Amino acid sequence: MPELPEVETVVRTLRPGLIGRRITGVDLCSNGATDGRASRALRQVLVTPVSEFRRSLRGPRVDNVQRYGKNILIELRASESTATLSLLIHLGMTGRLLWEVSPAPQRPHTHCIFSLDAPGRWLHYSDPRRFGKMRTVRARPAELSELGPDPLEISLDEFCRRLRRRRAMVKSLLLDQRFLRGLGNIYADESLFRAEIHPATLASRLSRRRAMRLYDSIRETLQAAIALGGSSVSDYVNADGNTGWFQQEHAVYLRTGQPCLRCEVPIRRMVIAGRGTHYCPRCQRATRAKTHKGTGRPAGRKSEKR
Ligand SMILES: [Zn+2]
Repeated sequence: MPELPEVETVVRTLRPGLIGRRITGVDLCSNGATDGRASRALRQVLVTPVSEFRRSLRGPRVDNVQRYGKNILIELRASESTATLSLLIHLGMTGRLLWEVSPAPQRPHTHCIFSLDAPGRWLHYSDPRRFGKMRTVRARPAELSELGPDPLEISLDEFCRRLRRRRAMVKSLLLDQRFLRGLGNIYADESLFRAEIHPATLASRLSRRRAMRLYDSIRETLQAAIALGGSSVSDYVNADGNTGWFQQEHAVYLRTGQPCLRCEVPIRRMVIAGRGTHYCPRCQRATRAKTHKGTGRPAGRKSEKR
């Protein structure tokens, strides 16, 4: 599933071709039409009614393309005085926005093709598994308002304050979009490894020093991933069709049984919040606060030292 760095990379590869352009046509394809389920497939992806979607997008100019957590917001404006209309896209697991040089579907499961007032380029949306969502919005929808701060924007103090309040395991907290928006399984695991924090540690038990380390690690991991165009672990590509390279830098994610890059102890996998969680049992030792939980032994501040 595309996480913050992948969505950021898609946004960056959309901007040059979209900003200042008008959408002149919206072709909602019945791809996979052979099985007769095309309209149902389209309804899974397209939240806005078809006629409204087509009508509202044609005409206004693209003002900006922004990332909000793992969401893409294509902001359109008809004139200076009119309100912004946004095309809100969540890529789900397999959603792709791709620039193509043809207005005809280029791959199976293409659901939508946008024509622009720029000749020779079309923006295609495809999504084999259809967990992605597209809709038009006039104001910021409630589901976006519920998301937590962006990990690249939140201040250290705010981050520490939010961590302290939560008794959840730090890994499950990092996956919680209401805590921080944009992190997913890859970057949660990689950030915890970089910070040398066991994924099952209770967030409220992290010392200020370790919380600061986690804060820095998340930002460094995300920035390094953005610089390499994200991670292509399944079929992720950016809007220009290029893969990312950060998967080659993964220290723990999907490396179960392979030697830790720092200490050579085999990477382990456990399940937290229903997600496979990869960590080094030596570099990310469980604190006593976690391992002695339920033994009746008090888990004081000292337990955080390793
Ligand atoms: Zn290690």
